[in-house]
Amino acid sequence: MLKKELLILQQQSLYRQRKITDGPQQVHLTSNGKAVVSFCSNDYLGLASHPDIAKAFQQGVNDYGVGSGAAHLVSGHSRAHHELEDALAEYTGRSRALLFSTGYMANLGIVNALMGKGDCVFQDKLNHASLIDAALLSSAFSGSYLKRYPHNNINRLSQLLEKNSHSDKHSRQLVMTDAVFSMDGDQAHVTQMSELCLQHNAWLMLDDAHGFGVLGAKGAGTAEEFSLDQEQLPVYMATLGKAMGGFGAFVAGSDALIETLIQKSRAYVYTTAMPPAIAQALLMSIKISREQSWRRDKLKQLIAQFRSGAEQSGLSLMNSQTAIQPIMVGDNETAMRMSQALEQQGLLITAIRPPTVPEGTARLRVTLSAQHEEKDIERLLSALGVVTT
Ligand SMILES: *Cc1c(COP(=O)(O)O)cnc(C)c1O
Repeated sequence: MLKKELLILQQQSLYRQRKITDGPQQVHLTSNGKAVVSFCSNDYLGLASHPDIAKAFQQGVNDYGVGSGAAHLVSGHSRAHHELEDALAEYTGRSRALLFSTGYMANLGIVNALMGKGDCVFQDKLNHASLIDAALLSSAFSGSYLKRYPHNNINRLSQLLEKNSHSDKHSRQLVMTDAVFSMDGDQAHVTQMSELCLQHNAWLMLDDAHGFGVLGAKGAGTAEEFSLDQEQLPVYMATLGKAMGGFGAFVAGSDALIETLIQKSRAYVYTTAMPPAIAQALLMSIKISREQSWRRDKLKQLIAQFRSGAEQSGLSLMNSQTAIQPIMVGDNETAMRMSQALEQQGLLITAIRPPTVPEGTARLRVTLSAQHEEKDIERLLSALGVVTT
């Protein structure tokens, strides 16, 4: 039975396979034993193998050993974790921050702690799977509702909020969105969304997995870029395994929000704390991200270079100003074939297919990093020119 299902996936060009990498995670990567230039990691600032961060990690192992040994509420909450939470709160301009072991779990934990029977979650149709799953789980668990609106359609969101506040004045409302859409690279209309949420007494939650470290002058993410304070944006979530080059995630907001998550988030309470050495390493990532704004400036230049070059060669770019610059293909098989042809030329770019993206919108998800050089972009552009024609 399983074999038959797998065969069908293969026939539809939807089968997924892992590649084995050797050596440090960086732009120049060894993938399946072959040297490639990678255009598909989320290591936007090039910090995943930064020597100072690696050194901080090693120091963390000396100080704390390897495992955290228990959940945060038992004996797993080390001083390194606590210091990282304080540093994240300070960086993002929030009262407090709380670490989660992964972004997926942070999203589950937020909805689970905040929403109950009869409450309503509103989500963009193109939100990351972890946000959608969080709302679905909560609806099964506690009887909250999920309403989805078409991508970035503020009018529709406004109508849904309007309707909901008429039908039930007492229910809680939570609007959740990717701040930077993970497979499209475009941004949510956060200022308008914040105003709308304040009007309707709804909480706004941003998942800034692809904005934290990248956006804002200091790299504090979408909230910094659009100057949204804790009132305007009460629930800020971001991950630490992308631009920060580490692992894990956090939620930042008011003291009451953080205490509620500690008391009620099942994905927080019932899991082992991340290794303390990771937290120690992340303290260094934050320091480097704050101080080295040249990484963000360089990334911006590379994005501009890629977009203008791609436009000149008539590639079908998407509406993105961020480090995620997908090339729309459409058909699964063509996307796979192009990805394989690029790999033969030593360029690693993943084909993203359904169900990660809607049917008929398979794409090459190009991501750029501050570690790329101008010549890498030129090489990518000329290879893309060849495989797409
Ligand atoms: C990667 C990602 C997550 C999941 O974070 P992990 O730490 O990898 O579990 C959540 N939301 C978005 C938008 C992401 O891109």
